[in-house]
Parts: sequence; structure tokens; C-alpha cells
Amino acid sequence: MSTSQLEQVPCPLCANEGEFLALTVPDGDENIANYGSIYAGVTKSRWVACGKCGFVHQNPRPSLQALNEFYAQSRYHSALNYNRRRLDAQFKTAYAADLDFVSRHVPSHVKSVFDVGCGLGYALAKLRDRGWAAAGIEPDEGRHKYATEQLGLTAVQRGIMSRQIVPTMQVDMVYSHHAFEHVADLDDVMDGIKKVLNPGGYFFCAVPTYYRNRSNMSKLYLNSGHYSSFTHKSLMQLLSRHGFEYVVHEYFNDYGNDVTDDLLLLAKFTGKNSDPASYYEDPRAVQRYVNVVNPLRSIVFSPVYAVAYQRLSRRLMVPHLQLIFRDPGEFLPLVVDRLRGRRST
Ligand SMILES: [Zn+2]
Repeated sequence: MSTSQLEQVPCPLCANEGEFLALTVPDGDENIANYGSIYAGVTKSRWVACGKCGFVHQNPRPSLQALNEFYAQSRYHSALNYNRRRLDAQFKTAYAADLDFVSRHVPSHVKSVFDVGCGLGYALAKLRDRGWAAAGIEPDEGRHKYATEQLGLTAVQRGIMSRQIVPTMQVDMVYSHHAFEHVADLDDVMDGIKKVLNPGGYFFCAVPTYYRNRSNMSKLYLNSGHYSSFTHKSLMQLLSRHGFEYVVHEYFNDYGNDVTDDLLLLAKFTGKNSDPASYYEDPRAVQRYVNVVNPLRSIVFSPVYAVAYQRLSRRLMVPHLQLIFRDPGEFLPLVVDRLRGRRST
């Protein structure tokens, strides 16, 4: 019988080795087969909330060694057809929410960026086309090649972000889109980020999160392909230990481009460490949030329905239906405003 390469770890954020609260995760994990022997003998990953700080993470989880080997061999992504024209079209509107968030919250003098896990390089290329100096790192061989050769991003290194990185240039912003949920050694990556970021620089991070719509859909991110599911608080717990100060965050649905519930967070590298415990979450509340799901919300937010719903709602001009669930008090005045707005035009 083959044995999985999973290991029990202390909380990756607060190092708690005591209690962990079990979280329920959906069956039918599509990613798990891609990992071959790493998850041998199990059909889904196990997720917990840390009993001390509430951090939602996979535990036991693939060993660092097994996973680094896996990423280094470029086995995470299925084979991709690197058709330039098709990918250009596919990524035309991608990262719009990130870049809009950056342009609203990062001062305009910031014009250099390092992308942690840049993938094909489209986010970097978009910033470069707006006049930014663009560098980054990507472990996957095919994606690295595409970013450098097809998109001409010559300052993208191939590898895994860590404190071993040798920066080719210092930047005023580090950008990370859907990478931190895959990171096993978070402190190692943060040390790497501090090596490429100028003091006073910004760190932008986008991650898929369970903490968004309280439906079955939010649990899809608790899968074998991820190590953690951050909230603005748990991410700030990590960043506060590394000298980053909170600037702003928002939660965002992007069902139009890619079916995700994202947390977007911006922090500033000031070198001042704040108290990580001030970002701890109540573990029991976290457990209830994940485990108690409203079936009605699961229908409204189901991926298939949500995309159709967004298209339909844009046409019907009722994009705020979801507010009924989130904030009923905000919903009615908004609809009234919209109706008045339409009448007056
Ligand atoms: Zn913890």
C-alpha cells in the first residue's frame, strides 16, 4: 500500500501546536489526482481552523519537500497550449480588479513592480505597458518561458520565491495574485519579498478566500491544491510580523472572468512590527462560518448560476441582489437610488 506524503504541522501563522478545529470540505476534489503519490490513499484534503488564531489551513498537509519537488518539476499546471493569440484574448480583461485596486490605492509615483508567481506574465505586462519597470519570479518552466520569450518580460526569474532570491532590481511594489494560498513556508516568502522591496514600498496580495459569501462555493478553495485560505485578518497577522502596516482591503467576486471570491489587500513596508495577536480571529466563529452553510446562498452563488446571474443582472440593472443577504438595510435604499437615477436620465 502506498502512503501519502502528508505531515502534521504547527499553525503556519502563530505556531500553535495545541488544538485545531475540524472544518468540513466538499467531496469531489478535482485537483487531488494531479498530485500523484503526495495524496496517495486519500480522496480529499483535511482543513482546520487554528484553535489559537483561527487561521484556516490544510493540516496535515503535503510535506514541504514533496511539494517543492512537485512545483520545481512544473507538474502543478496541466499541459497548456501556448497559443499567443488565444491567450492574449483570454487574458484581455484579466487582473482588471487588481489593477484598478492598485491604481486607486497605490501612490502614482510608484512605478516598479515585482510579481511573486507571475504565471504567464499578463499582469506584469499590463503594468509594463503603463510605464512600470517589471520584474518577477515563476516556478513553472513553460509559464516562465512564455513570460520572458513571448511577452518580453526579461526580468522574470525562474524559481520559487524565498529568502535565497538574488534581486535583479529593487521595486516599490510587490504584487502577488493567487500565489499565497500555495505557499508552505510563508516566512520564507516574506523574507524574499523584503529583499526585493524598497523601504516604504507596498505589498499587494490577491488570494481566493472562504471568507466571502458563506455558501458551498466558498468551500471550493479548501482543496488539495491550496495550503491556506486567508482573510484580511489572517493575512495581516503574517504581514504584521514582517514589518508591514495595513493600508486597505476589499473582498471581491470575479465570476465574469474566473470563478473566484478574492481578498485584495494592500500593506506598506514600514519596518514597524505591530502585535500579531491583534489580528487573531475567534476559532469557534471561524469554524461556524465555514461549517454552517445557508442552502439558499449556495444556489445563488453556485459557479454555474453565478456567471449567468451576473450577465442577467447586468442586463436587468439589479446588480445588488446579493446585498439582500449581505446587508438588507443597504439594499433597499440602493435600489431606490438606482430607480430614481434611471428616471432622471
Ligand atoms: Zn494559529
